[in-house]
Amino acid sequence: MRTDAIRRVVIVGGGTAGWMAAAGIARVAGALPGLEIELVESDAIGTVGVGEATIPQITLFNALLGIEEADFVRETNATYKLGIEFVDWTRIGDRYVHPFGFYGVDMKGIEFHHHWLKGRTLGDTTPLDAYSLAIAAGLRGRFAHPRPDQPNSPLSKMGYAFQFDAALYARYLRRLAESWGVRRTEGRIVDVERDAESGHVAAVTLQSGARLAGDLFIDCSGFRGLLIEGAMAAGFEDWSHWLPCDRALAVPCELGGDDQPLTRSTARGAGWQWRIPLQHRIGNGYVYSSEHISDDEAAATLLANLDGAPLGDPRPLRFQAGHRRRAWAGNVVALGLAGGFLEPLESTSIHLVQSGIARLMTMFPTRRFDQPEIDRFNAETIREYLDIRDFLILHYSATERDDSPFWNRCRTLELPEGLAYKIAMFRRNGRIFREHEELFTETSWLAVMVGQGVNAAGYHPVADLLPDAETLARLQHIREVVTQTADVMPRQIDHLQRIGCTPAPLRRVS
Ligand code: FAD
Repeated sequence: MRTDAIRRVVIVGGGTAGWMAAAGIARVAGALPGLEIELVESDAIGTVGVGEATIPQITLFNALLGIEEADFVRETNATYKLGIEFVDWTRIGDRYVHPFGFYGVDMKGIEFHHHWLKGRTLGDTTPLDAYSLAIAAGLRGRFAHPRPDQPNSPLSKMGYAFQFDAALYARYLRRLAESWGVRRTEGRIVDVERDAESGHVAAVTLQSGARLAGDLFIDCSGFRGLLIEGAMAAGFEDWSHWLPCDRALAVPCELGGDDQPLTRSTARGAGWQWRIPLQHRIGNGYVYSSEHISDDEAAATLLANLDGAPLGDPRPLRFQAGHRRRAWAGNVVALGLAGGFLEPLESTSIHLVQSGIARLMTMFPTRRFDQPEIDRFNAETIREYLDIRDFLILHYSATERDDSPFWNRCRTLELPEGLAYKIAMFRRNGRIFREHEELFTETSWLAVMVGQGVNAAGYHPVADLLPDAETLARLQHIREVVTQTADVMPRQIDHLQRIGCTPAPLRRVS
């Protein structure tokens, strides 16, 4: 038994990040003898209350927690998500989907998209979207679980994620965490006490006068970064030059529109609007640049573009793109909004919480807090933020839109080096490289590059191993298999009912 083991973990904040951290740490390390985990949150301050669309990695987090999916979907009013549909991003009237899973099948040892690119040179103008099962199913309002046991079916490699009610998700995780021994304390933190010698946070004091001491503090206090910035002055790397949107208005509305298992992002004059359909309502929001539109105009645009009656007034949120220079400083680790923020265009924030927890568990400290491990945690965190940042910038910069000062700014942005390199590599021969296990795979980069109108001049020479006629025939066959598979998948709404949900019916799309 180590004598320098952490004995008390204090989690500050009970939003999505706080309860994910509480459940994750309790599940993995909670049984360590003598380890206490306490979470403090303030009902009066509340949570940010948004954050409802996820990416497929969430299924791994749920598996780690031993969550039974049907129970989770019922309890959080969740729907399934097969990708994100981007509307009006490349030009007004254009739409494409960034799907979860793959396009087509690799042939002759090279990626499918090279054969698709070759097909274009032969006159086949079918869009890339036609080769993705996630897209075909999503647009038809259909859902089924992937079938890795059927390697010849496009279902074998489809991915999926969830859209859920953020408040219900936090409540769900809280129940789990408390059942694993996490103690919850309600109260507003009014003081942070630091050890004079080490500079570490020693304790936090609540308005009630209660003092909570700890060895390791997890700062999940939201944008304010109560400990990481307030006490440890970790510093903030501001990326608003790259990502100028700095405000959002969020409003739920009654169900309406279609029943596709997709998140939708529609580009607007000074930003973009999200649509996240749940079982009982739709989450909506306008993410915008305050330099390019007033709050009143943004609210009017949002309210004019809902699929149902609004269920309240639009709620304003302010943010700055970027991250803490040190997500881990001394004995404080920041997760969630306390650690940084990248706009929800690709639904990455909850994933960043998840990967932060995974990284923390890999490098779970002792009371010695070895600096090389902390440095590694910080370097990996920054790398992850950087990769996502570049992927987001791609959406804004690769556009033909010139209908507003906002889009003119985005279109003419000087690109970060890594992104410029990726685009240049694709433009020549359709090559895509996934750097250092970055979050977004080749498929994601392909989807958004092609979707945003980045064209490849050539294709992999090995694609010519297939005679032209065979290339065209195989492309057609793959399209047919995708369509036929999607057509026999159950409707999402039927699937939800089968697992005991009572979703309100939506307009059927097919
Ligand atoms: P919060 O929810 O703000 O929680 C902070 C907690 O700290 C609260 O419990 C609060 O009471 C507590 N606290 C603060 N100060 C004190 C104090 N002094 N004393 C005691 N307690 C205190 N992510 C996605 O993955 N997908 C999305 O679709 C998505 N959409 C988003 C849209 C917008 C506009 C924004 C702003 C974010 C979005 N996110 C999204 C991000 C997501 O909402 C957050 O990552 C997630 O909710 C985690 O928030 P949090 O727990 O870090 O902070």
